[in-house]
Amino acid sequence: MRIGIVGGGINGLCCAWVLAQAGHEVDLYERNTLASQTSRASSKLLHGGLRYLEQYEFRLVREALKERDAWLQRVPELTSPLRLVLPIYQGSQRHRWLVGAGLFLYEHLAGKSILPPAQWLTAETLLQRDPQLKAEGLLGGYAFSDGQMDDHRLALWVADQARLAGANLHEHSEVSAIDTQGHVHIAGSSYFHDRVINVGGPWAVTLLEQSGIPSPYRLDTVRGSHLVLERECQQAYLLEVPDERRIFFVLPWQGRTLVGTTEVRQQVHEPIECSVAERDYLLAAYNHYTTAPLSVANINSTFAGMRPLLYSAADPRKATREYALDRQRKLLNVFGGKWTTALALAHKVQQQLL
Ligand SMILES: Cc1cc2nc3c(=O)[nH]c(=O)nc-3n(C[C@H](O)[C@H](O)[C@H](O)COP(=O)(O)OP(=O)(O)OC[C@H]3O[C@@H](n4cnc5c(N)ncnc54)[C@H](O)[C@@H]3O)c2cc1C
Repeated sequence: MRIGIVGGGINGLCCAWVLAQAGHEVDLYERNTLASQTSRASSKLLHGGLRYLEQYEFRLVREALKERDAWLQRVPELTSPLRLVLPIYQGSQRHRWLVGAGLFLYEHLAGKSILPPAQWLTAETLLQRDPQLKAEGLLGGYAFSDGQMDDHRLALWVADQARLAGANLHEHSEVSAIDTQGHVHIAGSSYFHDRVINVGGPWAVTLLEQSGIPSPYRLDTVRGSHLVLERECQQAYLLEVPDERRIFFVLPWQGRTLVGTTEVRQQVHEPIECSVAERDYLLAAYNHYTTAPLSVANINSTFAGMRPLLYSAADPRKATREYALDRQRKLLNVFGGKWTTALALAHKVQQQLL
C-alpha cells in the first residue's frame, strides 16, 4: 500500500519505520525538520511512569516498561539505565509504605526486566552519596531503575532505520489539508495514498479542523518546561514539589542537570517557551532539596515542549497519558502517545490500517 504520514516526531517516525519494514511504500511529511518539536523537548526518560500508577494507568505503564527495556537493549549507544532516588521526608505527601507498594507494582508490571530492582536506602547512605541533599527530616529513600536517552539523536536514529527500510521522509513539507479519501495537500498540490496517518502530535486536531473533518477526541495541550543547570547533579531524583502532590525530576544530563517539568495549559498557537513563573517555580523546588541553592545565573538554558494529551480532566495534572487511534475510511488519526511507547503505538497503527 502507498501510505502517507503527516508528522515527523517520534510517533510518525516509528510508524514510518514499522510500515516500511512491512513492505509498504511510505512518504512522511514534516513541516519543520524531523523530531524538532515535542519529541526533542522531553525529560529524556525511557520509563513506565511511576506516577501514572496513582491514576491507575496499568495498561500504559506495563506497555511503557516493556518498551523501556526494549529501547535500552536495541540502541545501547544512545540510551542508558538510570538509577533514580525518591527520598522520603517527614511530612512527605506519600508515605514510605505507599511508595514501596507502588514500586513493587511497577516492577511486577515490568515483568522480567533487565534492570536491577528497587532498594530502600537509609538517610545516612543517601547523604554519603550526595552531601548536598537536604538532611533535615530525611527518613531515607527508594532507589529504583528506569532508562535515559538522547531523545533527539534516538529519534534521528529511528529516521535512519525508516530510510534504510525504504521510507521517504520529506522535511519542510507542511500539509495544509487531508481528507478521508487518501489525499494529502501540500503547497497547492494533492498527493494520493491508499492510507493517510495523521500523527501530528499536539497539532493533530488542528489539521483535522483545518481540513473540515470532525475529531472524536479533543487534545489537551499542556506545556512542560525544563531548566538546564550548569553543574551536574550527583544523583538522579524524583521529588515532590514542596507542599504539592506533584513530582518533578532532577536528572544528570550531558555534564549538566535537567530540572523539570511543569504542566501549564496553553493554546496550540502560543509560543512554546519556559515562562519566568515556570523558571522560578522549578528553581524554588530544586533549591528546597539542596544545601547549595542556585540562582537564575546558574541556569544554562531552558526548553519547553507541548504534551499532546487526550482531554480527560479539568486538572491537566490528572489528564491521562493514554493514546487513542481513530479510523475514518482511508484516514487514521493518532491522538497522544508517549515517547517511550512510540514503537508499540506504531505496531497498533499497522494493525488498524488493513
Ligand atoms: C515536557 C515534556 C516532557 C516529556 N518527557 C517524556 C519522557 O521523559 N519520556 C516519554 O516517554 N515521554 C515524554 N514526553 C512525551 C513525549 O515527548 C511526547 O508524547 C512525544 O514526543 C510526542 O511525539 P509526537 O510524534 O506525537 O509529536 P511531535 O514530536 O510534536 O511530532 C509531531 C510533528 O508533526 C509535525 N506536524 C504537525 N502538523 C503538521 C502539518 N500540518 N504538516 C506537517 N507536519 C506537521 C510537527 O512539526 C511535529 O514535528 C514528554 C513531553 C513533554 C512535553
